[in-house]
Amino acid sequence: MSLIEMLASDNVYVKETLSKGKGLFAASAIKKGDTILTEKPLVLCQFSWNRQYNYVACDYCMRSLETAQNMARRLAADYTLELPYHEQCSLSVQRVNSIYKCPNCCIPFCSKECYSEAYEKYHKSLCLHPDEMSESPVYRIEEAWKQLHYPPETASVMLIVRILAMIAQSQCPEMVMSEFQQFFSKTKNEEHKITHKLLGNKFKEQIILMHSLLQEIVPTGELSKLLTISGVQSLFALIGMNGQGIGTSSLSEYVHNIDAKVMSDNEREQIDAFIDQLYLHMEKESGSFLNCEGSGLFKMQSRCNHSCYPNAEATFPYNNSTLVLVATEDITKDEEICVCYLDECQRSRSRHSRRKLLRENYLFECTCSLCESEVDHESETSSDDSEMSEDASDS
Ligand SMILES: [Zn+2]
Ligand SMILES: [Zn+2]
Ligand SMILES: [Zn+2]
Repeated sequence: MSLIEMLASDNVYVKETLSKGKGLFAASAIKKGDTILTEKPLVLCQFSWNRQYNYVACDYCMRSLETAQNMARRLAADYTLELPYHEQCSLSVQRVNSIYKCPNCCIPFCSKECYSEAYEKYHKSLCLHPDEMSESPVYRIEEAWKQLHYPPETASVMLIVRILAMIAQSQCPEMVMSEFQQFFSKTKNEEHKITHKLLGNKFKEQIILMHSLLQEIVPTGELSKLLTISGVQSLFALIGMNGQGIGTSSLSEYVHNIDAKVMSDNEREQIDAFIDQLYLHMEKESGSFLNCEGSGLFKMQSRCNHSCYPNAEATFPYNNSTLVLVATEDITKDEEICVCYLDECQRSRSRHSRRKLLRENYLFECTCSLCESEVDHESETSSDDSEMSEDASDS
């Protein structure tokens, strides 16, 4: 049996690793800063609370549907603010005014194409006229989820709803199911731990509630095997382990475009100072959640294992859910491509803390090069254990 399962693209391949299951490897040398791969999610959804905070995004591709200026105005709570170089925003005012809304439920899409694709895949089963909204199980499941999850969410129950709708709506349900099959790789005991982590202390009651609401949403038939209590638990484990955060923002796209624009030193200095000031202002008014956020499942990216010293990172440079995996280090041919599952501030913690977070949230013992190189120092640096006592108390 060949260990190399498939050649995913010219740049990468998937191979069984010694201890971490499957991993993603470089098929040829990749330079720091280069794109490793680009992919669209199999399924995604915007976080429920995002919409509540007036982030407007395409319900299918998550493109932010506010102009950079409107976004800056809202986040800085300054409705007179004028962005210089506004032509660097890819969303024109006309475009914003011609957003396509679903004729039945009025949910916005960036274009008729996005609406049609969503409708064909899952929206047909999930579309609700505003009058029937509050009675519907889709609405009730989203409300139940919001009760459980104050921002920030890490995954969303609506991902599960969409996966089930995709299976129910497909001409070929087995094919859709097999696409999601790769994400189910955990044992029942591991699934139990992840679901518990995701749903909190009342997780048994929550699973029963979610199970009955999901059964109301989609006609069983094909789905009866998945829609058992233990099947629903597997689905929660699936999104808990594989959900990749997606952030979109017409304002950051605008800032990227400004960075790439040719201008004099003097102009550059002025605009940089303006943007720094704007971000300080926005953070003061709106906190640190400045993007339209959601989560999605990505076929290739989900094959990337973790390293505390990663050589790649997932980015969303197009103001939509298209993921671009970028090399953050030079990568040699046949080297494993790894991303960091920890966020910026978790990453700077000690080896002991990092490994504890990874063990609790992703169920593995990190043996990355950084953790291995720090083994000898562990006893000196484990003093920040106490900062995570709240994590320990709910498990
Ligand atoms: Zn779209
Ligand atoms: Zn609709
Ligand atoms: Zn590590």
